[in-house]
Amino acid sequence: MTDKQTTMLAGVLTAPRSIDIQQRLIPEPGFGEVRIKMKAVGICGSDVSLFQGHRPDLAFPLVIGHEGIGYIDKVGEGVSPQRLGERVVIEPNYPCGHCDFCWQGRGNICLNKRIIGVLETGCFAEYTVVPARFAWSLPEQITDDDAVVIEPTAVALHTLFSSPARPGDTVAVVGLGAIGLLVTHLAQRMGYIVLAYDRIPEKVALAATLGAIPISVDSSVAHIASQWKEANVHTVFECAGSAPAFTMAVEAAPRGAYVVVAGLADKPSSLTEFSITRQGITIVTAIIYQHPIDFRRTIRLIENGFLRPGCIISVKEPFEQLATALDTACLGKHAKIVLDVLEA
Ligand SMILES: [Zn+2]
Ligand SMILES: [Zn+2]
Repeated sequence: MTDKQTTMLAGVLTAPRSIDIQQRLIPEPGFGEVRIKMKAVGICGSDVSLFQGHRPDLAFPLVIGHEGIGYIDKVGEGVSPQRLGERVVIEPNYPCGHCDFCWQGRGNICLNKRIIGVLETGCFAEYTVVPARFAWSLPEQITDDDAVVIEPTAVALHTLFSSPARPGDTVAVVGLGAIGLLVTHLAQRMGYIVLAYDRIPEKVALAATLGAIPISVDSSVAHIASQWKEANVHTVFECAGSAPAFTMAVEAAPRGAYVVVAGLADKPSSLTEFSITRQGITIVTAIIYQHPIDFRRTIRLIENGFLRPGCIISVKEPFEQLATALDTACLGKHAKIVLDVLEA
C-alpha cells in the first residue's frame, strides 16, 4: 500500500442477492487490534444463506465473509510490532469471556458473542481489522489452501468431539458440504469408520476419496436405516442443514444412537417423539467451536501433517468474481469455493 492509499475494495451485501465490490476506507486497528491484508477468503454456507436473505435481522449494507487468511500489516496500541508481517488465520467469532456460558467453557453460545461477517464488518475485503488474539499465527508448514479452511475444520473438530463416539466406532455423516466432508476427513484420519451420505453423487464420491464408505444417493430412509443398523452406527452427524435431512438422520438412526446436529435448517421437521424416545436416541447440538482450544488443536493437527483439509477446495476465483462465486455457491454443488484477494 502506498502512503496515499486510503481506500480498499470490499464486497458489500446491499440487499438479499445483491453484492457489489465497493470502495471503502481502509480500517485502522484500535487498541489490542491488528489489521490484516487479506490473502484469501473462503465462502461458507452461512455466507450463502446471508446472500440468499435467510437472515431477516441482517443490517444492510454489510461486508460479509469470515473465513480468511492474510498478513498483519498494521498493529494497534498494545500489540507487539513484532507481529507485523505475520501470516495469520482469523477466528471470526469473539466470545466475551465473562458471561455465564463463557465461564462454563461454552463460549460458542456466548450471550455477547461478536461475529464478523454477520453482526459486524466481515473479511470479503482487501483489509480487515480483528482483535490480535483472534488472529492466529500460521506455522510455515501450513499451506494457504489448508490455512483458509482452518475455521470450518475447527467447526468439524468440535462437531466430531460433541459425540461420545471414539476411534474404532462407526459413525455416519449426512450432508457432505464443507462441514460434512471435514467431519469425514477428521473422523477417518482418527480411526473411526465413516459411512457418508448426500443426495449429490459428486460429493459422495469426494467423501469416498477421503476414505468414507459411500451410501448410495438414491437409498430410501428404510434402506439407510438398515445399512446403519448393520454397521452398528454409534453416532449420526447431521451436517446438511435441511429439515428432511434432520428428520432422516433421527428416524434412520439405530436404537441407542447419538445424533449430533450441526445443521442450521430454519424449516420445521416432521419428527415425532415416538421415533426419538422409544429408540433411545440422544440428540446433541454442535455450533461452531470453543475459543481458543479448538483453533489451537486444528492448527496443530494441520501443522503436523495429520490433516489436509485444503483437499475440499474445489474452486478458486479472483476476489473480483465474488458475485459470480456466490451464485455458484448457491447451486450447492461445491464443497468449498475460495476467493484469492491478494495475487499470488
Ligand atoms: Zn464459516
Ligand atoms: Zn460470553
